[in-house]
Amino acid sequence: RFNPPLIRRNTGADEFEEMKAEVGVYISDTKKPQKKESRNEGKEGKADKEPEVEMDERYKNVDKKMIEMIENEIRGNVKEVKWEDIAGLEHAKRTVMEMVVWPMARPDIFSGLRGPPKGLLLFGPPGTGKTLIGRCIATQSKATFFSISCSSLTSKWVGEGEKMVRAMFAVARVHQPSVIFIDEIDSLLTQRSESENEASRRIKTEFLVQFDGVGSGEDSKGERVLIIGATNRPYEIDEAARRRFRKRLYVPLPELSGRIALISNLMAKENHQLDKEQIEELGKLTEGYSGSDIDGLCREAALGPVRNLFSMSDMLTENGRGGLESINADSVEPIRFEHFLAAMKQIRPSVNQKDLKVYEDWDEIFGSKS
Ligand code: ADP
Repeated sequence: RFNPPLIRRNTGADEFEEMKAEVGVYISDTKKPQKKESRNEGKEGKADKEPEVEMDERYKNVDKKMIEMIENEIRGNVKEVKWEDIAGLEHAKRTVMEMVVWPMARPDIFSGLRGPPKGLLLFGPPGTGKTLIGRCIATQSKATFFSISCSSLTSKWVGEGEKMVRAMFAVARVHQPSVIFIDEIDSLLTQRSESENEASRRIKTEFLVQFDGVGSGEDSKGERVLIIGATNRPYEIDEAARRRFRKRLYVPLPELSGRIALISNLMAKENHQLDKEQIEELGKLTEGYSGSDIDGLCREAALGPVRNLFSMSDMLTENGRGGLESINADSVEPIRFEHFLAAMKQIRPSVNQKDLKVYEDWDEIFGSKS
């Protein structure tokens, strides 16, 4: 049974013309006007929108069923992530702008040696915003977004993983500009070992072949497919794979300003009584928390005022509904500082200092600095 990976196209059909206007020049190298973007090019208007599977030569030697499945999946919408939704991480955001956003806006300037790299590796502790950055790149550059987790390649696609990789790259090339986001990429690209099984070996080889294929053939110069790998274990990626990700960006735990911004953003729509000083104090108290830890903390704190209203004995009356239904929603009190203090006893930082040191050391040797 096929378990399709999450693959989304963020541009709705209506936005297609706009997208073409924005990235059209970017795709086709102006010096090579004869270059074919796809066999459908040349036909005006709507026909461009849906390349027929059989028509495109990039689909040669690719499993048709998989292509169809992926093509069908990319009509959905990815929830938009804006740059300002990502708290802190200024260095990472700046690098990503330089690498992806500017080249998309000005392909005439970012060509040749200034051409964008094909691979971007985002590494750092879990829950620090790597996936968020991937989604932001895709939605802000209006690229087709493909997202796949490596465990699904090996577990759900038993024996078919490498075909899936081939099909995904083919569809990404046809629907460029595209972003292929691969979560847990370490499990795909670990150093070869005796224990590595045959299936993983084949997937890995196929991935590297496809990676190298992007933009390298006569017909594919100027191709706009960005491969973003995310990992919590960068040190497990072998040298051959690491080399291909020319930009390697450390996505660290949020700094004080990032934590404050994150708490403010999360609380903005809530009924709360925190003043500026208290939010700053919470920023200080949450040192060592990841973005997702802070998200969890705010959720826990938000439950505080509700907990006071509900009591277990009420819940146990009238089949558990009596108490619930008699509570007036307006009587829920605002979230206060002490709710956070109580929540901090429940939600602790998930990353330890020893792990952080490992990321920092790896960043020192292999990371892309500002
Ligand atoms: P990972 O680094 O493991 O890919 P995610 O990007 O999936 O982490 O982050 C998990 C969740 O934590 C996000 O959906 C978001 O709610 C929150 N989060 C983490 N970092 C940030 C950040 N810098 N700004 C805003 N939200 C964040």
